[in-house]
Amino acid sequence: MHDPAISALTLADPDVAALVEAEAQRQFTKIRLIASENYVSTAVLEASGTVLTNKYSEGYPGRRYYEGQQIIDPLETLAVTRAKELFGVEHANVQPYSGSPANLATYLAFASPGDTIMGLSLPMGGHLTHGWSVSATGKWFRGVRYSVRRDTGRVDMDEVRDLARSERPKIIFCGGTAVPRTIDFPAFAEVAREVDAVLVADIAHIAGLIAGGAHPSPVGHAPVITTTTHKTLRGPRGAMIMSDAAHASALDRAVFPGLQGGPHNHTTAAIAVALREASGPAFATYAHQVVANARALAEALTERGFDLVSGGTDNHLILIDLTGKSIAGKPAAQALDRAGIELNYNAVPFDPRKPFDPSGVRLGTAAITTRGLGVEQMPQVADWIDITVKAAADGDEATIARVASEVADLTAHYPMPGWA
Ligand SMILES: *Cc1c(COP(=O)(O)O)cnc(C)c1O
Repeated sequence: MHDPAISALTLADPDVAALVEAEAQRQFTKIRLIASENYVSTAVLEASGTVLTNKYSEGYPGRRYYEGQQIIDPLETLAVTRAKELFGVEHANVQPYSGSPANLATYLAFASPGDTIMGLSLPMGGHLTHGWSVSATGKWFRGVRYSVRRDTGRVDMDEVRDLARSERPKIIFCGGTAVPRTIDFPAFAEVAREVDAVLVADIAHIAGLIAGGAHPSPVGHAPVITTTTHKTLRGPRGAMIMSDAAHASALDRAVFPGLQGGPHNHTTAAIAVALREASGPAFATYAHQVVANARALAEALTERGFDLVSGGTDNHLILIDLTGKSIAGKPAAQALDRAGIELNYNAVPFDPRKPFDPSGVRLGTAAITTRGLGVEQMPQVADWIDITVKAAADGDEATIARVASEVADLTAHYPMPGWA
């Protein structure tokens, strides 16, 4: 059952309640390897479902457009203070509705439509909002893209420097959604300084690792940092923008009134709770365990003949290139889902296949680490992936069903916040 219980919901709307219960059970039963997902704590769940959702509070603490902010002002200030302390930044804005609007706010703050901006190409691991063509950021701005090197699978810093010198972007984004390696923030900072661009470090995926000391921090290198709060950071769906003092007011104006109306105060409360959790020693242990699990899983997959982009991982994320496995990313991901192992199909660098039917799958270890799995379970997880991918290529559904029941046997032993 969902925990906290949803008894009023069950009475008022059995249809929605049944779907919530089913989703909770699905999350409990599966091995969740979607790199951008996690399980929030029961405290974060509770904070998200409070009367704070009833309150309008356009503006910022002490400067609001609605009355009745006696409680919301200190709440938002608490979230901001915790973000500043946890990441060691001069300024934080906790109002962006999600990662994409947070990134859009940096465009509004530091560029004008038609200006050149630069980011990692989407099929190389970048995010849509780093100027990719189908995104508003690629339609309204001139997106130029750097890549990873063919031989190493890592960001090509020579190309970053050459492209920045020739294209003179207003904003340079570093970070991405399918980057299994450490981001070299000092190297990006040097390039941005040389061409007088604003460096935005988008740490959406790795924020929890940074907070827990398991990945270098961009603070002191990137004057502007955007992040979601719901990936490795393990908070509610939301986002934050952090910056030095010099960039603070332009960012605040871009979020409100530039892009958004009232902040989602229930989310602000849940972000504050997640930030407090992330400042404790247990979170640092979790962050290091996420990386240890990813390394162990990467090794176990490599031993079973899987080809990993860049040859491994430094963080929570692994990108498998299935070329040579006689199955493409999408059917492999679908078969793994039937086997109780949830991940997503993903393009790999220089992918000859189409984005909707690419050659790879992406996985991450944040959610299973929260669940309590350790390095000793990673060979088993790799085995199930290997068996399922082979079974899918052979059309062997019986084997896939057998893996699903073995997976459910394992996950039954690992508690999940939100399920009792
Ligand atoms: C997830 C992600 C985002 C977007 O976040 P949403 O909350 O899905 O809008 C932006 N940038 C990067 C690098 C991401 O991984």
